Formats: sequence, structure tokens, C-alpha cells
Amino acid sequence: MRNLINRLDAICHPFPGIHVLGLISSILFITAVLWPTVGETGGQSDQTMPIPTLAKTLKTNRQLAPQSEPFIIRTERVQAGDSLSRLFSRQHLKPRLLHTLTQAEQGNRRISRLNVGQTIEFRYSGETLVELAVIQSPFQQTVAIHAEGEWSIEQRQRDPEIYIEHARATIDSSLFVAGAQAGLPDNLIMELADIYGHVIDFVHEIRKGDQFTVTFEKRYLDGVFIEYGNILATEFVNSDEAFLAVRYTDSQGDTGYYDENGVSLKKAFLRAPLNFRRISSNFSHSRKHPVTGVRRPHRGTDYAAPTGTPVYAAGDGKIIHRGAKGGYGKTIVMKHGTTITTLYAHLSRYGKFRTGQQVKQGQVIGYVGSTGLSTGPHLHYEFIFNGVHRNPRTILDKLPKAKRLPQTEITRFEHLAELLIASLNAQRNNVELAFQTITKPK
Ligand SMILES: [Zn+2]
Repeated sequence: MRNLINRLDAICHPFPGIHVLGLISSILFITAVLWPTVGETGGQSDQTMPIPTLAKTLKTNRQLAPQSEPFIIRTERVQAGDSLSRLFSRQHLKPRLLHTLTQAEQGNRRISRLNVGQTIEFRYSGETLVELAVIQSPFQQTVAIHAEGEWSIEQRQRDPEIYIEHARATIDSSLFVAGAQAGLPDNLIMELADIYGHVIDFVHEIRKGDQFTVTFEKRYLDGVFIEYGNILATEFVNSDEAFLAVRYTDSQGDTGYYDENGVSLKKAFLRAPLNFRRISSNFSHSRKHPVTGVRRPHRGTDYAAPTGTPVYAAGDGKIIHRGAKGGYGKTIVMKHGTTITTLYAHLSRYGKFRTGQQVKQGQVIGYVGSTGLSTGPHLHYEFIFNGVHRNPRTILDKLPKAKRLPQTEITRFEHLAELLIASLNAQRNNVELAFQTITKPK
């Protein structure tokens, strides 16, 4: 058991800095894997572990705020155009003191680089400034300290306490509604959509009854929830097809999501070549033509989206046309290798790339509009394989193969994937058991 925990710790957190509590999170995680009978219900995330269990871990963390002396703390929030000297004058502190402080700056230990929105704490003993803290995040601050007549600057860091949680949801009306019902914030749902952005078209392919299970991190300090962390593993069942994704950081430090065989979920083409964040999350399955309003065989996919929504290159390739194209209006055509062409129509304007230029997947080539034969702003997208219009999902095996983890990474990946997949399965089986109990006739 101990070996297993250490192994998972090493696998989950191969880099120092975020792993002081890796062991704790691993224990919680193992607990979740081996004792998954916490009474959760469908559409609900697990209960977190009771807060007191965290108390033990706090001794390993350095305190960020001074504890021994009762400082008087006056807080400034950095506004646009603010500099440290302006904050100093707001605090009625002498410019010469600021000069002395900045002289203590060294390397990345700097207090004079401020970002708008940052909090600066002026900590006084009586009327004397003894500490100045630039709060970078709940986990990090840079502090200038006055001790024995001298100023020095240090970085203070704390590692978050990481909890592993699970959530499971069935989509009824939209991905976001289902996510919210499962207790997931929008940004985690967006991350989920990003993870699957190469395999599922979240605008057109999401169906009522689709399900997802997510294993994710929650970060705490002193038992107080601070923020959501990474999605560690997830399964998305879309129209009865299951897509598994496991987060993995390789020995080079590159992080990606891989299926159970270690094949990257990043494919050669994006499924929906535009910023999904800008599109209304509700279903829009109707293939009605936006102008004629009737259903008819359509040679492409329409994405209703606000004018100005960025349009991405679906894959690496070369722009072979940029200009007006009859009813298509402002149009970009890209060539990807010898067999695949993509087309983006009705644009309001183009990105910075011109005809003949090579473009990488995800780069902005234009913006949604309503030029040409179109009544409302939308992107008309075509994917053409060997001269025939195709849905890229149905010809996945003919498209360039996605990256698979090299043999040197596979062993470590498989260990991690095994545990995470077991946890996802436990989660799913639990819910099904619960359903059985409920629906069993008396
Ligand atoms: Zn169209």
C-alpha cells in the first residue's frame, strides 16, 4: 500500500514545488479508488474530506503572513498606471525609503514590478514600515523585510493542499447546465471542452443523454478552498461512444491528455474551428440553412456565433485562398498536405495571414461575420477529403495519426492511467448501483 502511494505520488507529481501534499492527495485519491462508496448521487460531486485532516499538513508549509508580531496592515490594490512610488505617496512614505527598498532587489526577487489588480500589503509596526508584500497569488508573495537596519527581499511560497474530487453528470439541455448541476465551475467545463476539442464537436455533436465523469483537483490553503486545479482524468460518452482522457506530464515536462493506449487526444484537426467559449452552449442541431430556412443536404457545418468570434485554422496547413468567393462572402481556404482542404466562409474580416502562408493549428485566420449569402453571423466550415465533403469524425482512421507516447514513457503512463481509470470506473459503477437501488421494484 505504501509503495503504491509513493508510486502514485511520483507519477502524479513528477516535479517538485507542487508536491508537498502530493502524498496527502494520493492518499485521498487511493481512498477514492479503494473505498469509493461515499454516498454520492448522480450529478453531484463527492463530498470533500473533512477539513481537520488537513491540519497536520500545515506544519510543512511556511506561513505567508507574519505571525509573531501583530502588524498593522494597510492594503493597496494596484490600479492602471500605478507604480510603487505612487503607492508609497498614497501611504505617505518617503521616496528615499522606496529607493532603499528597490536597492535590495535581486534576480527575480523584485517588488517594483506590479500588475494591475495585485494586492500590496504595507505592514507596519506602529508608524514604521517593516514589511512590504507583493501578493502574487494565495500561494506566493514577494516580501521586503526590514531587519537589523537592513532591507532584504524574499519569496514566500506555500504549497496548496490538493484534494482529488470526482463529478459525474448526464447532459439534459447543455454541457454547462450539466456541469453546474455537478458542481463544476464554467472554467473547468471549458477545460473539459478543450481536452476533447479534437474529437468532439461541442456545438453540434452533444446529445441529450451524453455523460461525463471527471476526476479533478481542488486547491486549499489552511482548509479554505482557493481554486480548482487540473482535470486529472475524464471520460466523455458522446452518442454512446466513450472517449477517455488521462492527464500526463512526460519526462520533458510537457503535459497533455492521452487515451488509455497513450495516444494523444490532440489530433491533426480541431473539430469546431472556432472559439467555443463565444458560442451559446445550448443545442443547435438544426441543419436549417440560415438563409433559406429549410433543411437540405449541406456540404459543410454552420456555427452560429457572434460577429467577431475568432476562427481558427483547423489544422496545420497553407492558406491557398483569401478573398471574396461568391455566396460564401469573405472566405479562407486552407490546404493540409495533399488530400485535405478546409474552407471558412462568411467571415467579417481576415486574420493576419495571407495567401501562400503556412499557418499552425489554432491560429486565428479570420473572424465570424455574415458576408455573402447569409442572414445572420455564422461560420460556414467545410472539410474536404480527396475532393469529397466529409465529417472528420467519420474518417478519423484516414487522417494523420495523433502522437503516441514513446516507449520510454509508456510504463509510467500506464501506472498512472490504470489508477485513474479505475477511479473513473468506480465512480460510474457507483452511480449505476445507486440507480439500480432506486428503480428496483418492491
Ligand atoms: Zn453553411
